[in-house]
Amino acid sequence: MIFVRHFARHRLLAICLALLLTGLGVRCSAAQAAPAPAAAPTAIVHPANAQAYNLPPDKLAKAIALSRIRNILDIAGSLWSLVFLWLLLATRAWSGLEAWAKRILSRHWAQGVVFFAAFFVIKRLASMPLSWIGHHYSLAYGISVQAWGGWLGDQAKALVLILVIGTLVLLLFNWIVRRWPRRYWFGMWLVTIPILLLAIFAEPVVIEPLFDKFAPLAQSNPALVAQLEKVVARTGTNIPPDRIYLMKASLKTNGLNAYVTGIGATKRIVVWDTTAGRIPDDEVLFIFGHESGHYVLHHIWKGVAGTIIALFFVYWACAALAAWMVKRFGAGWGLPITNSESALASRAGFVVLLFAISIAGFVLEPVDNAFSRHFEHQADVYGQEAIHGIVADPQKTAVAAFNDLGEAWLEDPNPNPFIEFWLYNHPSVQHRANFALHYDPWANGGHGEFFKN
Ligand SMILES: [Zn+2]
Repeated sequence: MIFVRHFARHRLLAICLALLLTGLGVRCSAAQAAPAPAAAPTAIVHPANAQAYNLPPDKLAKAIALSRIRNILDIAGSLWSLVFLWLLLATRAWSGLEAWAKRILSRHWAQGVVFFAAFFVIKRLASMPLSWIGHHYSLAYGISVQAWGGWLGDQAKALVLILVIGTLVLLLFNWIVRRWPRRYWFGMWLVTIPILLLAIFAEPVVIEPLFDKFAPLAQSNPALVAQLEKVVARTGTNIPPDRIYLMKASLKTNGLNAYVTGIGATKRIVVWDTTAGRIPDDEVLFIFGHESGHYVLHHIWKGVAGTIIALFFVYWACAALAAWMVKRFGAGWGLPITNSESALASRAGFVVLLFAISIAGFVLEPVDNAFSRHFEHQADVYGQEAIHGIVADPQKTAVAAFNDLGEAWLEDPNPNPFIEFWLYNHPSVQHRANFALHYDPWANGGHGEFFKN
């Protein structure tokens, strides 16, 4: 996608799935934080004209205040999801829930359905306050335009999805732990692969239409599509017009975006209607070039491959960590600890494994984000090269696009480097705009990284 760290749209379902597996689940709502009353920006040292991304003073103040809120919510959300799992282990709430499921139902699988469904509902309720605060600020700062009713409806849909898909996946995993108590992590890894591929394949055709409306871009913006065809021809991607969609994002947000999603027969480029028509067409061409870069450079496949390889080690390490935690704390958590394998195979014990995977997810977030930033940077380079010879000045166009994007999302021009390292799955807008400003491989008759001219 072109933009925002808060909205990893093309990986939404993959993330939801990963979070299901890791028991996090919070970020699937993809709620962006929004602005609060602006703090005075007087303390900010802002070297005049030294930067490619600038905001007018009133927006700068808002962007700084909003970034602070987003960062706090991001970090608080991650930590809370860990604390929450631990808290309910330590108070024996999970083992109490398991005992209750056993009392009301006789069939083992039915107990599992009730346990994991309740698990997701409780988790969702626990994360609601932070989601609510996020949406409140998103509205207050004018990023979101989605009324509370619609927002709650989306939350409810997301919960139903997680209840159906997540419960099935956790039942399967829990069964694998019981069936192969010693090597279960390997079995879990094997079944994760097809689930992940299916999720990414189905996301654009099954999941996304539940939340947003899509139509071929050529229907509403034929002139723009004619322009995009020039980029398609230059990139040699053969992306047919019916694979380019317009998403009615304006019903929910003022933010700009575009993204690549799906694999194989469902692969497509989606442009938000807050982007096409609202910013100059040249900038949309650049954004489209960026998305084409993800397409051409196989970023989805590389991401999938990386995730699968990483999960092999994550599951292995988490199995060891979970076994240790059961041994060390299991008695206090009310788990059946005759041995760690049988404890993990119980429903409440399985939460220990989810807890371990959540810890790994938290620790590995900066690693995941570093890969993501690398891909996004590549796509930026590709996008700028893709519009060379099509727009008058690729540097100017790219810089203008980043300024429009940054302003629409109220991105902080000077984010804290540590925050950028830990939380950003795109380079900061400032970094991207500065790079674009100075990227001119055609000077002195040279050529770009991805194109011969
Ligand atoms: Zn991107």
